[in-house]
Amino acid sequence: MSKNQQPSAIVNGKPEYSGQNFEIYDPSLDEVINAVGIADADSVDRAVVAAVNAFGAGGWAESSVAYRQTILRSCADIIDKNRDELVRLESRNTGIPIAQLPRQVERAAYNFRFFAEYIGQQSGQIYEQNPDYLTMVRREPIGVAALIAPWNAPLALATMKIAAATAFGNCCVVKPSEIAPLGVIRMIELLHETDIPKGVVNLVNGPGDPTGEALVNHPSVDLISFTGGTETGRRIMQDAGKRLVASTMELGGKSANIIFEKCDFDRAVSGALASIFMNNGQQCLAGSRILVQRSILDKFIAAFRNRAEAIRIGDPGDTATELGPLVSSGQRDRFLRFVSEAEADGGALVTGGEAVADVRGYYVKPTAVLVKSNRDRICQEEIFGPFAAIIAFDTEAEAYAIANDSRFGLVSYVWTQDVTQAMRAQNAIKAGVVWINTSMVRELRAPFGGVRDSGIGAEGGNACARFYTSEKTVTIPVDQPRLPALGQV
Ligand code: NDP
Repeated sequence: MSKNQQPSAIVNGKPEYSGQNFEIYDPSLDEVINAVGIADADSVDRAVVAAVNAFGAGGWAESSVAYRQTILRSCADIIDKNRDELVRLESRNTGIPIAQLPRQVERAAYNFRFFAEYIGQQSGQIYEQNPDYLTMVRREPIGVAALIAPWNAPLALATMKIAAATAFGNCCVVKPSEIAPLGVIRMIELLHETDIPKGVVNLVNGPGDPTGEALVNHPSVDLISFTGGTETGRRIMQDAGKRLVASTMELGGKSANIIFEKCDFDRAVSGALASIFMNNGQQCLAGSRILVQRSILDKFIAAFRNRAEAIRIGDPGDTATELGPLVSSGQRDRFLRFVSEAEADGGALVTGGEAVADVRGYYVKPTAVLVKSNRDRICQEEIFGPFAAIIAFDTEAEAYAIANDSRFGLVSYVWTQDVTQAMRAQNAIKAGVVWINTSMVRELRAPFGGVRDSGIGAEGGNACARFYTSEKTVTIPVDQPRLPALGQV
């Protein structure tokens, strides 16, 4: 077996290999670098059964909080210790610039550390309003969670799910994206170098069909946490509904970044560039619709163009690189189709709009188009690449109307130095998150999730406590209250 052959599954801490593989590319070179096995329905079944056993007979569900905290902290430590290897792997597989990845891998470790601390601070509820009875509400782990993650930030997103599910006493089966599973596979191997009990975290690799579908529809899966595209989310939720399995959906976005005349201009330009060009523009939380007040539009376009054209495009393994390739040739071709559509709709190209010439990888230039209407397709569809639609507005009311004229509602950004305007904006915008005068900041205690087609449910401290546990109400009489005296003579 070649050393580039990756397992189809990790079950009870042991790799499994299958006869059928899919290829993994280095998107910067358009070159196959690994083969990953496909987990079929039998393999998915073994992974789920391992999780069922670890949950019940294995004792994870019943284990003490202190024990789970120790295990979760050791998971964080081993990720930190192997940070550089994980950064290199993730960069090679996704094309994300290596300079931007340490933060994501540190976040992966922090996800475990955060939930280890968080479960130490949980408490139930007691109701004493009825003096004859004490009623308490306890939270219990649910069982086996299917955790399905996308390719754009594989480690950061998968660990959020794994850490939360296991901290609250559940066991899990993780399915990374078939496009970029390498970092997650290695991370789950590393977790098994700690004392984590076998079967608590299992992995299956493969495409949505057959692997993802077998996992979602497995009768012993009790919870589904999904991050990915809206159409896939819709389909998984339908499957989950058939068995009444709780699911949380973190889906796509077309987020508005509103830049008011009263902004700190330089910071707003930096924030706009970061929110659409970081992570190669492949972010669910991209500020992909930049709404600019008309009085500062020309100045904004000039500054944005200058900075966008100075972005260093290149080898994601080079620490100076700011923009790497898109993750696949398919994503690059899709990106370029949107450029043609934007032009056909009468949009004016501000910068970019083409692939980088004479290179092997899936490189495109940072792109911005000044659009005529927010109804254009590039304003309504998630492109998932370094592609900004710039939209002019005159009044504050118009800005909110445009921001909300979307089927999505994941995040939003607002730039203004006027605090009353900021307060009106956070109230008016329909989205799960509003960032004011900042680019992305993730507060893990607070929920992260979208509305409308951006999803249902959220991730974060309390949101995960609610999702990964079920409530149980227990009532005990304080003394000997009268019982119904049926049949008494
Ligand atoms: P997809 O929806 O294509 O895939 C997401 C995951 O679901 C992959 O692991 C995929 O497997 C799997 N999958 C596909 N079909 C099924 C199925 N029928 N049953 C079970 N699993 C299935 O999304 P992408 O990977 O292309 O990710 C990009 C999307 O993710 C964007 O829309 C983006 O906005 C969204 N996203 C949302 C975030 C949020 O927090 N709201 C954060 C990051 C991304 P495979 O790839 O192997 O086919």
